[in-house]
Amino acid sequence: MTDLAKGAAWMGGQIIPIDQAAIPVTDWGLTHSDIAYDVVPVWEGAFFRLDDYVARFIASLTAGRYDIGMDRGEICGALTAMVKASGLRDAYVAMVAARGRNPVAGSRDPRDCTNHFYAWCVPYVHIVRPEAAAKGTSVWIAKSVRRIPADSVNPRVKNYHWGDFTSGLFEAKDQGFETTMLLDHASNVTEGPGFNVFGVFGDTVVTSDHGVLHGITRATVLEMCAEAGLKTQTRPLPLEELWRANEVFLSSSGGGVIPVARVDQHHFSNGAAGPVATDLRQRYFDWIGQDTYRTPIT
Ligand code: PLP
Repeated sequence: MTDLAKGAAWMGGQIIPIDQAAIPVTDWGLTHSDIAYDVVPVWEGAFFRLDDYVARFIASLTAGRYDIGMDRGEICGALTAMVKASGLRDAYVAMVAARGRNPVAGSRDPRDCTNHFYAWCVPYVHIVRPEAAAKGTSVWIAKSVRRIPADSVNPRVKNYHWGDFTSGLFEAKDQGFETTMLLDHASNVTEGPGFNVFGVFGDTVVTSDHGVLHGITRATVLEMCAEAGLKTQTRPLPLEELWRANEVFLSSSGGGVIPVARVDQHHFSNGAAGPVATDLRQRYFDWIGQDTYRTPIT
């Protein structure tokens, strides 16, 4: 394995091994988690839905007032050159805008910071181990934290504010669960570290429409449901209602559709992956291979 095959980064126009990629300790990206980012999957040598991911990233840049001095074409060019140099055929590809450094030490004026773009890629990441996902994973509802409110940190701008998720993950791991999902302050289901959440009620699939990142996989699931003849609803999903679901599943660019067999002590679909989630999981792996959605890295 070459250095770049373990992972590569694009920083200031240079493509370097991931282990050498770093940002300065005074970058607001580090000191204030002041970063907007996005992650696009590469599958069998092609980006999946590249335009959608880059469009979401550019919307995040605008919302967060990041000026990286690069347009859509330049961002795509950097990502393509980096993945190509790495030789990776299946990859997790992150594009990142950091607030950067303020020339005046200790300044509190974000307008003076020099924003910058960088990117990095590593072999494809499954947020839940594929063996666990296929059987139906386990999710712990965080008890010590709620999802940070949407009017405090906008969840539609993909960000590095992970304090709530990290607390939930500690709880989940301590309880022997694979991952965690967070509730909002009205006890609606929101999302988890790297995924959206769905409940299946008969022939209707429900996922939250507020307080969550509008995942590209979430959008893909909604489209696949139409193909599969399932109805969809995007609206708040109270936890009390989730308990009555026939099935629960997660969606993420890191692994597609992930069936859930257990939430806390409650078993769904007889403690196994449910039929709707299993069908959508298979469809997702079909869709990421379809030419319509692929941008090959040649
Ligand atoms: N919610 C959060 C907080 C995420 O970080 C992610 C992805 O990393 C998702 C949802 C799923 O979004 P996508 O389907 O675009 O990967």
